[in-house]
Amino acid sequence: MEFTREWFDESSNEWMKNKRKKRSIYFYTCDHTYQSGKRCGRDCFKQESMCQQHWALEKNALAKKVKEISMEYILISPALPDPNQSNET
Ligand SMILES: [Zn+2]
Repeated sequence: MEFTREWFDESSNEWMKNKRKKRSIYFYTCDHTYQSGKRCGRDCFKQESMCQQHWALEKNALAKKVKEISMEYILISPALPDPNQSNET
């Protein structure tokens, strides 16, 4: 491997693909890819790998999934004993 200028340019281009330079500080940009194949490219939200919008979408999808799973759990779990029908003999 020869560390030529071309090699460096190519490497830095690769490295820059998911980053955006802002006042000499590198910010990670949103990794969300649209159906057209275009990356979102907006600044990431907090420490996430997505912008606020796509992070919210992901979070909602996750919350929905959790809700579905807990609903299933409620349906399959045995009913709790009714405290009004305890043995009073
Ligand atoms: Zn995004």
